[in-house]
Amino acid sequence: MPINFEQKEIRFITGSQLLYGDETIQEVNRHSSVIVDKLNQSGTLPLKIVYQGTVLSATEISEKLRAADQSPQCVGVIVWMHTFSPAKMWIGGLKSFQKPLLHLHTQFQREIPWQEIDMNYMNLNQSAHGDRELGYMMSRMRKGRKVVAGYWEDIDVQKRIGVWMRVCFAWDDAQKMKVLRFGDNMNNVAVTDGDKVEAELKFGYHIDYCPVGDLVQIVDTVTDKEIDPLVDEYESLYHFSEEARKSGTKHQQVREAARIELALRRILQQKEAVAFTTNFDALHGLNQLPGLAAQRLMNDGYGFGAEGDWKTAALVRTMKVMAFGLSGGTSFLEDYVYHFKEKGAVLQAHMLEICPSITVQKPHLEVHPLSIGGKADPARLVFTAHEGYGVAVTVVDMGNRFRMILNEADCVLPESDLPKLPVARAFWIPRPNLKVSAEAWILAGGTHHTSFSFALTPEYFDDYVEIADMELLKIGESTTIEMFKKELRLNEVYYWLNRAVQS
Ligand code: MN
Repeated sequence: MPINFEQKEIRFITGSQLLYGDETIQEVNRHSSVIVDKLNQSGTLPLKIVYQGTVLSATEISEKLRAADQSPQCVGVIVWMHTFSPAKMWIGGLKSFQKPLLHLHTQFQREIPWQEIDMNYMNLNQSAHGDRELGYMMSRMRKGRKVVAGYWEDIDVQKRIGVWMRVCFAWDDAQKMKVLRFGDNMNNVAVTDGDKVEAELKFGYHIDYCPVGDLVQIVDTVTDKEIDPLVDEYESLYHFSEEARKSGTKHQQVREAARIELALRRILQQKEAVAFTTNFDALHGLNQLPGLAAQRLMNDGYGFGAEGDWKTAALVRTMKVMAFGLSGGTSFLEDYVYHFKEKGAVLQAHMLEICPSITVQKPHLEVHPLSIGGKADPARLVFTAHEGYGVAVTVVDMGNRFRMILNEADCVLPESDLPKLPVARAFWIPRPNLKVSAEAWILAGGTHHTSFSFALTPEYFDDYVEIADMELLKIGESTTIEMFKKELRLNEVYYWLNRAVQS
C-alpha cells in the first residue's frame, strides 16, 4: 500500500556500435555517466536513474533490455544514441520489450565549439542523426514511447522526463493493483461497468470481489478501545458539528463510521487491495454508507469508486500514485448541478465520497440523513475544493476498446456559501466552456464519475496512453465540436483497423 519512489528505478542505455573503437566508446560512457549523475542530482526527477553502459551489438541490446524487463525494481528504460547505432540491431531487443520506453534526444554539449570543432568531434557527437535512426525503427515497429528532445540540463527537458517517470511508477503499481468491490455495480447502470477481463489484460489491475458480509464480520469485532483513539484523531483534524460532538445527539453515528473505517482498513490490508468500490444498495449488516471512511482512505492514497465503479476506483489510485508528493490533491468526483452563467460552471459533488486532499480548509465533520439507501445517517466531511487548474479524467469501455477522456478545468470558489448543502464539493469552469466541454464529453460517451487532480496535467495522460496503447480524447482550450467529431470518427476507424492488423 505505501507509495515509495525509492524502491524503484529507471534504467539508462546508451546506443552505439563496434565501429568507433575503444577510445570513443570510453568517451561515450563518460558522457553518459555525467548526464545520468547530473540528472540524479538535479532534484527534479522522482526516480533514480541507473546507467547500464553503452551497447554495441544486437546481443548486448537484447541482454540489457531483457534484464530491464525482468527486474522488479526497473519501471522504465531511457535510451539515447550518442553515436550511430544501426537500428536493425535493436529489433530483437525491442520486439519482446514490454516496459515503458523514453527516447531522450539530446547531445552532451549544449553548443557547437566553433573554434575547436573537427571531424573527431563530429564523429563523437552524432545523436542528431543517431537518434533519428532509432526513431525510425521504433516507429516502424509501432512501439509506443515518449520522445523528449532538448538539452538534458534544461529544466523543461528534465520536467518532461519527471512526468514520464511518475507515469511509469503508476503503471508498475497498476500491474499488481487489486480493486476490491463491495457489492456489484449499481443496477442497470451502463457507463460504470465494462469488461473486467479485458481491463486486466490492458491495464494490469485485478478487479476482485468481497461479500459485504465479510466486511460486516470484521466490523463486529472492532472494539470501543480501538474506536476511541480514532475519534480523537477526527477531533484533532476536523471541526465537529454540534450533533457530531461527544455530547451531541448523533455522536454514536460518528463512532459507527469509525468502526467501519477500521474494519475497511483491515480487510483492504488483508486482501492487499489498494482501491475499492461500495454500493449504497448493498450495505446489508452495515449501519451506514461508508462515506467518511471512503474520504479518509482516498486521502491516504487508496482508489475509490462509488456504486461499483471499478474503472474509476482504479483510475483514482493510478492518479494518486502519479501525483504522490505533489501539491494540489486528487479525488473521485461526479458532475452534479450546472450553473449556466457566463462560460458556465459545474458543481461537483457526490453523496459523500470526496477526498479532502482537494481542499485547504479544515473539513467539517457532520452527520445528516442520506435520502437514498435506507440506512442510518452517515458521517461525512464537508468542505469546498480550493481554486486552481486541474484535469478530470475517465475511462469508458467502448466494446472494442477502452477510451480515456480528459477535460481541463479551472476550479473557482462558489459565488456564495452553501449553508444547506451537507456534502463536500468542487465548483469548476470546464475548458473551453461548459457548452463545448459537455457536448464533447457526451459525444465521447464520458462518465458522470471522474477522477480529478489539481496536481496533474494532460502530459501525464499522453504518456500513460503510449504505455497502455489506448485512445485518449482531450477536451481543452482549443477544442471545437467540429474538430472533436472528426477525431471521434477517425479514431473509430483507426482503432478498428489497428485491432485488425494486430490479430
Ligand atoms: Mn455516483
